Amino acid sequence: MAPSRTLSIIKPDATRRNLTGAINAVLEESGLRIVAQKRLRLTREQAEVFYAVHRARPFFKDLVAFMTSGPVVVQVLEGEDAVERNRAIMGATDPAKAAPETIRARFAESIEANSVHGSDSPENAASEISFFFTPAEIVG
Ligand code: GDP
Repeated sequence: MAPSRTLSIIKPDATRRNLTGAINAVLEESGLRIVAQKRLRLTREQAEVFYAVHRARPFFKDLVAFMTSGPVVVQVLEGEDAVERNRAIMGATDPAKAAPETIRARFAESIEANSVHGSDSPENAASEISFFFTPAEIVG
């Protein structure tokens, strides 16, 4: 099967605690390759557009405030079943429910400050990757 790609974000709670390298090590040890990566600070507008699907949820305002509270590292991961594989390594949204050894079980602070984002379908992966990266920035 051909390798596929997914978008990952290392969230502000993790960059604040200097966990970028630790999280990248988990991703790479799982066999995923980081084929694009940059550190940036999301604007409020970017965060609102990125999480537009959650606009009606009660936590939307808090989520946007959290995601703009510090730097994030956006990255494209490549590998077999990249979306599913990354979701498995991330663990459940709520770290209290995340399987042991997953990134969220090991590093997340709360259901909101849960250290990583990962696309949840190949279709969303494609649109989320193009939200942050041009094709020339992705080097497989
Ligand atoms: P994910 O795909 O596992 O990231 O989960 P969702 O797409 O459902 O939610 C997006 C993000 O919103 C999560 O990663 C959390 O940062 C945040 N979030 C989800 N559910 C809650 C909640 O009940 N309360 C708060 N404060 N944040 C939440």
